[in-house]
Amino acid sequence: MPSLTAKIQDVFNEPACEKNRSKDAKARKSGCSKPLIPGAAAGGCAFDGAKIVLQPITDVAHLIHAPLACEGNSWDNRGSASSGPMLWRTSFTTDLTELDVVMGQGERKLFKAIREINEAYAPPAIFVYSTCVTALIGDDIEAVCKRASEKFGLPVVPVNVPGFVGSKNLGNKLAGETLLDHVIGTVEPDDVGSYDINILGEFNLSGEFWLVKPLLDRLGIRVRACIPGDARYRDVACAHRAKASMLVCSTALINLAREMKERWDIPFFEGSFYGITDTSEALRQIAKLLVAKGANPEILKRTEALIEEEEAIAWKKLAAYRPRLQGKRVLLNTGGVKSWSVVHALMEIGIEIVGTSVKKSTVEDKERIKQALKDENHMFESMAPRELYTMLADHKADIMLSGGRTQFIALKAKTPWLDINQERHHPYAGYDGMVELVRQIDLAIHNPIWSEVREPAPWEYQPGAEEELPSTQGGPETVHAKKKSAPQLLASASAEESL
Ligand code: SF4
Repeated sequence: MPSLTAKIQDVFNEPACEKNRSKDAKARKSGCSKPLIPGAAAGGCAFDGAKIVLQPITDVAHLIHAPLACEGNSWDNRGSASSGPMLWRTSFTTDLTELDVVMGQGERKLFKAIREINEAYAPPAIFVYSTCVTALIGDDIEAVCKRASEKFGLPVVPVNVPGFVGSKNLGNKLAGETLLDHVIGTVEPDDVGSYDINILGEFNLSGEFWLVKPLLDRLGIRVRACIPGDARYRDVACAHRAKASMLVCSTALINLAREMKERWDIPFFEGSFYGITDTSEALRQIAKLLVAKGANPEILKRTEALIEEEEAIAWKKLAAYRPRLQGKRVLLNTGGVKSWSVVHALMEIGIEIVGTSVKKSTVEDKERIKQALKDENHMFESMAPRELYTMLADHKADIMLSGGRTQFIALKAKTPWLDINQERHHPYAGYDGMVELVRQIDLAIHNPIWSEVREPAPWEYQPGAEEELPSTQGGPETVHAKKKSAPQLLASASAEESL
């Protein structure tokens, strides 16, 4: 088994990554991490990234070998959903103390924890995560896992990705390597079919993959493994017998897709389930790859029929929103959901994109956005909070779609905001997901709270001057109620008290 350093170098050298191919050997060696800006949030560590990718495997016990804080930092920070087992949401940690470190009790404590989990829960597998502290004190989690695996007769998988090795994204990729080294290909399924596929890099956020799976079911396509969203250990272990793969998040798991192609000849394509056109295109691509691998070509016809039917239904539902949203301006500030897909999806119903961040986009993603927007000026690498605020306060966008970190900038600028990152509460994938996204944008933009908060506060009114009050932010909002000035409010309050 290659050392962790060699593994990291392999990931940095990823040949399927366009960005990597354009670098020279020296630049490739140092990976993609940028130096941190003092005062800026650093994002998750590599351990956090590995946990994000592996934790949604729902029937596995995820044991963090660390002081308590590492588990607190990483637990359940994706809104993935499970259709069955809930063991993945139970927090297991060895809770290493200073005394354990000083007395060299780490490995013993880890072995004991594995035994306890096995006896209490009998999971199909236990994943053991190393972290900064346990890696620094030299605990050999690989040896402990091997011994425990032999003793208890179940797969105990070492996830050797301590936080200090790099960024969250590096952790994502190293988690993919862990699956390749210890899980995928370890079980031979007895029901291999010509219509089996893997979906890679799909996290089933808010259960959104369940909006797509019924479409695949109707085509007779079986998802052998969705990695990691709503996955089961055995499905992942059998994933090497799929006929084709769709890669949903290339930033996280491109190495996994490429290596599965090399090892087991599973062709893959990169696609997205966000937006009507992209969902249809993804279904077409899946059908084409299956046919190329020997499936009956009649599936192509069935796929086209399903696309026609589903698109017609979705467009009919969206038609109701078009008059309300046509020409509305959206600022997209996200790295989580594929920006290019969301750009496409929103433009499909006449929404204008005034800006989109491409900070986490790959070279291909940026090219797609460029083609869709036909104007590079709308793409920004990163925008400082102050600039974001100015843009929103100047009413250059009707709504911002982003992650939770920037929500308060929008709220401070009294601008509607919608969460489209990993913590979101609504599913946006597939045809129905697109309708849901548009519905949520409509609800956010037309929420009556905005006309309320944009009105001047009571103490900003001059008595009898409400006719001259300007409508704020140029929107349809006008001031209807005659509000009292602060002295008036105080005077009427004291009058009521004295009654
Ligand atoms: S693994 Fe290291 S960087 Fe990550 S949470 Fe734990 S101590 Fe912090």
